[in-house]
This record gives sequence, structure tokens and C-alpha cells, in this order.
Amino acid sequence: MAQSQLNDPPQAGEGGPGAMLGRRVLGIKLSPTIAMSERAARMREAGKDVISMAVGELDFDTPAHVVESADAAAKRGFTRYTAPDGAPFVKDAVREKFLRDNDLSFGREEIHVASGCKQVIHNAFAATLDPGDEVVIFTPSWVSYIDIVEFCGGTPVVVETRPEEGFLPDPAGLEAALTPRTKWVLLNSPNNPTGAVYPAALLARLADVVAAHPRAMVMSDEIYEHLVFDRAPRQSFMVAAPALRPRTLIVNGVSKTYAMTGWRVGFAAGPRWLIDAMACVQSQTAGSSNSPAQAAAATALTGDQSEIPRWRQVLERRRDLAMEILRRCGRLDVRAPGGAFYIYADVSRCIGAITPGGATLADDDAVAEYLLDAAHVATVAGSAFAFSPFVRLSFALDEGRIAAACERIVAALDALTGPDARDNRGASS
Ligand code: GLU
Repeated sequence: MAQSQLNDPPQAGEGGPGAMLGRRVLGIKLSPTIAMSERAARMREAGKDVISMAVGELDFDTPAHVVESADAAAKRGFTRYTAPDGAPFVKDAVREKFLRDNDLSFGREEIHVASGCKQVIHNAFAATLDPGDEVVIFTPSWVSYIDIVEFCGGTPVVVETRPEEGFLPDPAGLEAALTPRTKWVLLNSPNNPTGAVYPAALLARLADVVAAHPRAMVMSDEIYEHLVFDRAPRQSFMVAAPALRPRTLIVNGVSKTYAMTGWRVGFAAGPRWLIDAMACVQSQTAGSSNSPAQAAAATALTGDQSEIPRWRQVLERRRDLAMEILRRCGRLDVRAPGGAFYIYADVSRCIGAITPGGATLADDDAVAEYLLDAAHVATVAGSAFAFSPFVRLSFALDEGRIAAACERIVAALDALTGPDARDNRGASS
């Protein structure tokens, strides 16, 4: 936990309140995406016109038939504990989803349901990591992977991807990072925060590298699977690399596909021994996930799927709108994401620049702070994704607010003085 976020900064092992906190919690921080969107919410409550491009959350309403199914489930008494890792009919809905969307067939005993993808990931790491066990994570990476690994006692091994290679993982880099202590390799495509969509051939090459290390497993976070733009193909890791199935856990959930972030239902598919261990963790922590929310998730997964392509088109238009405006900024380098709903903007040309108030922007945290103060736009600094200097902009908000937010960002950054601005005003592509 970042000590600046605590009222009374504690040190493990010292006297006072700090002595009550364990080293594991002192080693992690409040999720930066959530922290930034909370700040934006507090500023809005105080009357400031802040637009949040911080948290990754669709602005669409959860479909009415899904909401109604939770209501109906609660009214018919489906309000009690379920099996720790999901009611049987919910697991069946997850199985149906994998068969329909990914052509993958699983038994119930290979399915895990928990309170959101984050808890699924936690359960898998808590079930498998011992001190010294390594987890390979490609950066930029979603804010919570590194912290969850550390919280569960593992050691994150960070492998950087390169913007000029579209942020795709390099199999040679993976090979170099694997050791006899590697327990997991974490893949995330479509990627948060870069929007990179890993081609099936690359997934197969990465799988070949992992195959030579019999102790290593692959966790494939596919939560953005339906948000792939430009009609590009995408494949589940397990389909691209069937030989690794006994060592693969696919992680997914209803949050991003069905606008159900607050319902907190995530799921996974993998080998039975692992699913059993994850259920054991779940039984000792949450008991089970919320039963009406599980029923709603089952309805979302098995009911009308026609919103998905429509929402994808809406998001593609929003991406294009944001890109068109941001490309005009002489202080930003942006590339169109192939999936998810984030633009990961390179702010190298802002570093060292001077704000109208006379401050020097030392790093991407300072850039994000400046955008919040001067433009009233909440973003998340690249430091949160272990890859600087960048800021992540979520375009999961309506076109009016996207246009306003991006215009404000461009105006605020173009008002900076100092080295390295590129004059590309008027650029249209
Ligand atoms: N996954 C979303 C994000 O990156 C939701 C918030 C979170 O859990 O980090 O913004």
C-alpha cells in the first residue's frame, strides 16, 4: 500500500498503528485506476466539471433482460450461498459461452466462477504461488497483475514490450525470462492498457516457448475478447495452443462484454486440479460470489448476444473520434488500439515541459496531474502500468464527452512550453 495513501503512514514492525499492518499489504497500493476515478468523482461532487477517462468501464446500461433475471432470481429465493466456485447452472452458462464463442468444450469441474476477474486471478495465484515462484508479466500491464502476484507471495518478472512493435510480446524475450522458478506466464489480449491484439501465430510461438518449461503455466486474461476492432480476427490462447491446455487457465468475465462491472462476476476455465484448489481458496475467502449476480451473468452469457457487435461498432467510432482529435496534439504520440477501449498515449514530448503556471512536468504522473488540474480530465499515468512515459485514456464514454475531453487535453498540452513539441496541428491521420 503506497504510504502516501495512508493517514498515518505505518512501517511494518514499528510501534503504533503501523505495527498492526502486515508486510504483504504494505507492499501493495490502492488500484491506481480506481484511485484516479475516485478522485474524479470527488472533484465532480465538489462542483468541478471533470471528465473521467480513467477507469475502464463501459457507460452502457446492463441490458434490461439481465437486470430482470437477477430480480426474478432473488424473488424466487435464489439468495443463498451457492457452491463456492459457482452454481451448477451458472457454470453451464459459462460452458455454453466457451463452446459458442471459442469452440472450446469444458466440463463443469473445469469452470470457476468468482466475484470478478480480479478475484479469479487472485484465487489462481493464491492457490499456486509459493515464495520465490515467478510470474512473467509483459509490460505495459494492467495495474493489478503485479500487485496481486506480490500479495500472493510470488515474484513478478517484468518483460517489456515495445511501442514500435505494437506492444506485442517477443517470444525471445519470454525465453530469456523463463527460469526453473517460473510458475506462470500471464498473457492479456486484447491488452489493457495498449489495446494490442496478439495474432494467433504469435500466441502459438509463445506457447512453444512455454512448452519447453514443464513447470510453467499460462494465464490468458481474455476479458476484452469481444472488443476487437477493424474486423480483425482474434483467438483464445487455448485454441491457438491446444497442446498447452493442461497448463492453461483462461480468465474472463461479464464486466466488459455486457456492461456489468458492478455485478462482479468473473470466471475461468482450466485443469480440474487447479479449479479444485481455486474453489478451496474461494470457500475460505468469499464463500461464493453473489447469487443473484451469478444468475444475471448466466442470463447475459446465454441470452440475446446482439448488443455485442453493436457496442463494438459504437466503441470503434469513439476510438476514431478520440484518435482524430489527439493526433493534432504536438505533445502526444498516439496509435490506434486494435481492441479494448483504451488509448495508450506516449507523452515523452511533455516530459521536461513547463506548464503555464511555471511547473516542470518531470514524469507521466506529473502529466496526469496536470491534465486533471488544468484540463479537468482524469487519466491514468503510465507508471501505473509499469511503462512510462505514457497516459492511458479510456474511451468508454459518450462521443460528446470524448470530444470535449480530448479537445481539453490537446489545448492543455499545447499550452506547455519548453523542449520537444512537434508542430502537427491540422494533422488528420
Ligand atoms: N480493469 C479496469 C481498468 O483497468 C477496471 C478497474 C480496475 O480494476 O483496474 O480500468
